Amino acid sequence: MIISVASGKGGTGKTTIATSLALSRGEVQFLDCDVEEPNAHIFLKPHTNERISVGIPVPELDESKCNFCGKCGEVCEFNAIVVIKKKVLFFPELCHGCGGCSYICPDKAIKEVDRAIGVIEKARSGKIDFIHGILNVGEPMATPLIKQVKRHINNRTNAIIDASPGTSCPVVEAVKGSDFCLLVTEPTPFGLHDLKLSVDMLRRLTIPCGVVINCADIGDDKVTKYCENEDIPILMTIAWNRRIAEAYSRGVPLIDALPDFQNGFSQLYGTIERLAER
Ligand code: SF4
Ligand code: SF4
Repeated sequence: MIISVASGKGGTGKTTIATSLALSRGEVQFLDCDVEEPNAHIFLKPHTNERISVGIPVPELDESKCNFCGKCGEVCEFNAIVVIKKKVLFFPELCHGCGGCSYICPDKAIKEVDRAIGVIEKARSGKIDFIHGILNVGEPMATPLIKQVKRHINNRTNAIIDASPGTSCPVVEAVKGSDFCLLVTEPTPFGLHDLKLSVDMLRRLTIPCGVVINCADIGDDKVTKYCENEDIPILMTIAWNRRIAEAYSRGVPLIDALPDFQNGFSQLYGTIERLAER
């Protein structure tokens, strides 16, 4: 089973929930797919045992073979390669490494070379098999790195994916293929607005979801009413607690700082299993 943990809005406690869910389960794979800002390792403190460089294949032009026909520019959906008069211009930061230009080139003037975009670290934290992707600073291509992180999913065990906040391409890539997605939100107008976007995204991907409301005793009841109206189960509510905030700031997982939550997270995992099977 693959459970993804996502949130439409940043700062709702997504990683706090994801890491405590993993710790309550014990033997599980944890994949931090928030590759632009991975921080689950701060809480799980894994010991790295493998580092893998990740790149995408980008075109390299041999101008002596080029007839400037412009076919490479026509096939590129991302305007990463443009042919103007007798010049082929390439914008590496726009290139998605799809291979279309080298495939279409009639004169074999384009070969593919690897451009590094980040690294994957495989590690161990107690019983947790930990994997995260770290995108190079300033690198815009998060999605190919997330794809590579997810290639390490072991189908013989359960996996928890920590997605980045929002509903953009990296989030879609991270949650795609999940059996269930846990959405972490807070009872505020921003929380509700972004929750609606996340629910819409998951419905398009036909991924069942449930909600955790963090800081549930502040704000209003509109998130609760929305979930009731939309038939989305609220699987856990967590009241604001200074000790949770302090533990977070020290990099201590919620269930280690407040062991009373252990049962709640174990039950949450069991409920997700049942809902995913359904
Ligand atoms: S498709 Fe090949 S030959 Fe045509 S412009 Fe592009 S690189 Fe040159
Ligand atoms: S590899 Fe794909 S995205 Fe990159 S320049 Fe070629 S066609 Fe465009």
